[in-house]
Amino acid sequence: MFVTRFAPSPTGLLHRGHAFSALTAHAAARAAGGRFILRIEDIDATRCRPQFEAAILEDLAWLGLAWEQPVRRQSEHLADYQAALERLTARGLTYRCFRTRREIAADIARAPHGAMEIWRGGPLPQDEEAARLAAGEAFAWRLSLDAAERALGGFGSLDFLEESQGRRIPADPGLGGDVVLARKDVGVAYHLAVVVDDALQGINHVIRGADLFEATHVQRLLQALLDLPAPVYRHHALLSGPDGRRYAKRDRAQTLAELRAGGMTPQALRRELGFD
Ligand code: GLU
Repeated sequence: MFVTRFAPSPTGLLHRGHAFSALTAHAAARAAGGRFILRIEDIDATRCRPQFEAAILEDLAWLGLAWEQPVRRQSEHLADYQAALERLTARGLTYRCFRTRREIAADIARAPHGAMEIWRGGPLPQDEEAARLAAGEAFAWRLSLDAAERALGGFGSLDFLEESQGRRIPADPGLGGDVVLARKDVGVAYHLAVVVDDALQGINHVIRGADLFEATHVQRLLQALLDLPAPVYRHHALLSGPDGRRYAKRDRAQTLAELRAGGMTPQALRRELGFD
């Protein structure tokens, strides 16, 4: 049975781009006679707000979507992610990283494309790590790409089916560097939570925007390391506004709440986005 999901983070109000993504996944589930799951990705306690979650539910219902109950809220399942982290750690695939926000920001500022953090550091020498632990310094857990590569005997056989291109794409987990699996503050991080949940919820089709294409390469590696099934992926093009720029959470004027307040009907928005 076809099972897909829409997995927003309640860090802001939904905009047209989210509506497109949610409608795409929902329509695909409908067409396949499958299931549509809504998941709330709220592990980032510093940025997620209950009022944004409430707004997401309201917006999606307004759009005419229906989803299965209960809705999985990641913040309520931290033990599941912890267990996955422990499995990886027990196999020697992780290491503690004590770098501070300030050090990371400085690295990013120096990087040529600015935005993404790509770190391949490896563990500290044992005595230094012991000293920092004894001093009570906080640390994140990172995935060691080197150890992962050794464990799998290389990344050569790692790939995923990209439905929008009708072909398998070789995964290049190096794109993300030694990703953070567990943040200092919340004890888990995005990639780990997503692969654990996609597997636990039986998601076999991940339909999401092309902005997460690189994330798929990292997530495919985590699936292999955790012996989880690989879903089929469909990354859809991101929607652009009339000015040709992609919609983003920071463009307040384009939120679904504002469109609704301005008198737009769900039927009109669905039609505009190419549904119905
Ligand atoms: N929670 C992520 C976001 O809002 C999406 C995760 C996913 O679709 O895998 O961007």
